[in-house]
Amino acid sequence: MAGKSEEKSSNSRCPLCGGGLCEGAASLPFFLDRRIVVIKDVPAEVCADCGEPYMKSGVTGRVEALLDKLDELDSEMSIIHYKVA
Ligand SMILES: [Zn+2]
Repeated sequence: MAGKSEEKSSNSRCPLCGGGLCEGAASLPFFLDRRIVVIKDVPAEVCADCGEPYMKSGVTGRVEALLDKLDELDSEMSIIHYKVA
């Protein structure tokens, strides 16, 4: 089989531009029904070239829990930190 030649042991690459992804944190906006929630300092892999952040898979559960919590606040726009207790 003539496999792909581009296989590397390094991390994933940016689907947009192919740049390398670095460990980092990002402020991510979430657009819900009638509300906007910005979660700051979400652990993410950030593209070194275009700066696009990608949430890590392990983070999604916590983000959903945070969004769930905010549901009770009935606030149209919220800015919270990922690391709030
Ligand atoms: Zn990129």
